[in-house]
Amino acid sequence: MSSRAAREPIHAGFSILTSFAHGPMVGGEREKKTQTKTGGAKGRSIFFFRTAGILLLVGVFSPAIFSSGRAAQRKVTEPMAKAGAADEHEIKVLPIFFIPSDGKAPSPEQEQKLMKHVKWARQRYHELLGGTDTFEMAKDQVVVYKSKKPMSFYRAAPEGSTPVCLSEMLEYFKTNRNDAPYVFLILVMNSADKFPNGGGRPINGGHDNGGGVILMATYAMDVMHNFQSTLQHELGHSFGLLHPEAYGYDMETSPSIMSYNKAHHTHDFQPSPTPGIFIPEDLRALAMNKKEFPHFSYTPVGKISPKTPSLPPMDIPGQPAWSAR
Ligand SMILES: [Zn+2]
Repeated sequence: MSSRAAREPIHAGFSILTSFAHGPMVGGEREKKTQTKTGGAKGRSIFFFRTAGILLLVGVFSPAIFSSGRAAQRKVTEPMAKAGAADEHEIKVLPIFFIPSDGKAPSPEQEQKLMKHVKWARQRYHELLGGTDTFEMAKDQVVVYKSKKPMSFYRAAPEGSTPVCLSEMLEYFKTNRNDAPYVFLILVMNSADKFPNGGGRPINGGHDNGGGVILMATYAMDVMHNFQSTLQHELGHSFGLLHPEAYGYDMETSPSIMSYNKAHHTHDFQPSPTPGIFIPEDLRALAMNKKEFPHFSYTPVGKISPKTPSLPPMDIPGQPAWSAR
């Protein structure tokens, strides 16, 4: 039976809530609830509003930050050296450990693990783009950021705290929604539970309109086993990719990494025997992102949806509304 009918009306334009798209693993269980035969669009909306509680008014603090890096996992990155001049990538992925004031700093093992995962995802994108390009990394080490606000602040913040975390990052890096040269890949230090659930999106929506943001919990990396396939999926959202249901395809069986197809799940550092791929609609959308994939172009051959949907710009505290330049 079709469960798609029960989902949110994608073609009516993604709402900001439904489009802060969640991953097959980290957000998978939650999204699953809204997608099964008995579920409905209502469930998903409820989730998004669930996190919107009382906003604690917290003063402006100057967050402390320090970089901490480990030796690069060279083995994984070598193949991409041929991909082209790195400096042509205007927007690069920046992995960050985000420590709430009452949270713990990441261990060296966690830092190594995150870098290894990002480099693996980078290699996978390279393979899936036919060796022509992949996303670039902003640094060869993880940024470790210490916030002055406690976890309770983030738990109460709207939209799973993505807008407030992004706002802090923009302020810290002295940039703004238009000029940010990063996809902020934020792992919130939380070993207790899945908060914040995995999600990713382009800051300004659309395609090639600037940077992106991904929010996940360290719990997802350390406790759940399919972090890698989820990371690939959330990176896709941060580059402007939508779920395949936006094109009328089934979310459970689509070959796209942007689906919830469980056959794509990685297990720790083991690839899936049947990994997800980019479907033509994904490739078409990635090719539009010249700031992130300057060397990749795509001419569709064969069947492709005529729809070219995109995600809307985010509302970000402390930032003006986005307007195209
Ligand atoms: Zn998603």
